[in-house]
Amino acid sequence: MTAIGVDVGGTSVRAGVVDAHGSVLDTARGSTPSGEAELEDVICSTIETLRREHEVSAVGLAVAGFIGNDRRSVMFAPHLAWRAAPVADRIASRIGLPVVLEHDANAAALAEYHFGALRGARVGLLIAIGTGIGGALLIDGKLFRGAHGVAPELGHLRLMPGGRPCPCGKSGCWERYCSGTALSATAVDLLSRHPSSTLVREAARDSRALTGRKVAAAAREGDPVALLAMADLAKWLGEGLALVADVYDPELIVIAGGVSESGPLFLDDARDRYRAVVTGAGHRPLARLRIGHLGDDAGLVGAALACGLG
Ligand SMILES: [Zn+2]
Repeated sequence: MTAIGVDVGGTSVRAGVVDAHGSVLDTARGSTPSGEAELEDVICSTIETLRREHEVSAVGLAVAGFIGNDRRSVMFAPHLAWRAAPVADRIASRIGLPVVLEHDANAAALAEYHFGALRGARVGLLIAIGTGIGGALLIDGKLFRGAHGVAPELGHLRLMPGGRPCPCGKSGCWERYCSGTALSATAVDLLSRHPSSTLVREAARDSRALTGRKVAAAAREGDPVALLAMADLAKWLGEGLALVADVYDPELIVIAGGVSESGPLFLDDARDRYRAVVTGAGHRPLARLRIGHLGDDAGLVGAALACGLG
């Protein structure tokens, strides 16, 4: 049995044929357009490309946004065009296959639970750190969605009242200090004090081009500003983990998303911070902290699982 999982992100749409073992047999990709109808066109065309070569039984879409509890509609997605949109039914009527929606962090958590780093965790938390932060909570292998389907929305917990403005409309949200976007913002804040940094030359050309990915690459090469920005991210990751551990008391926390590729640069510092500031430090069992195993494929593999694969 195979299904198609589609990871619908703010910059690209990535679809894959997934088998019951979680293996990705084939992929197709498109760019995310800004319009609603155009986005659905791109999703359908990546699905049809894969169906020419593969027989599949269903399609799952992993979406960075608020998904209705019935997993048929997108209520709100800050980086996508959909607002209260019956996306599953629209796509299903065009392709003639069952379609299910899932929040992208929930999809990644399902994939890591069945095939990766969350396997066996009774209470497991996934923190996906990319452009922002997405969170997912699995209890005995079942996703916790809250009363209306939007929990746990961890990235917009306010860690710094009056802090950096956030596209969600608030300020000082966790993801403003702990994300790819935050790496870039922190590096720009630090540049004036560190003229020897290679990032200064990069920013002099175009500060908007100083992406989190570039800061992470510079940190791997030892750039002082990039390393300080990475240390700041580690501090805020540890602070946020301590809060969510107080709320959920997980046994395992998996860090996923694009920033997790730089795990060796921040994970130990984040763990130290978390251990130091969690309530009752030294007098309670702590969650293990590790990097996800499935990388970029977690969202589409989890989307395929969400539509009943396996
Ligand atoms: Zn926010």
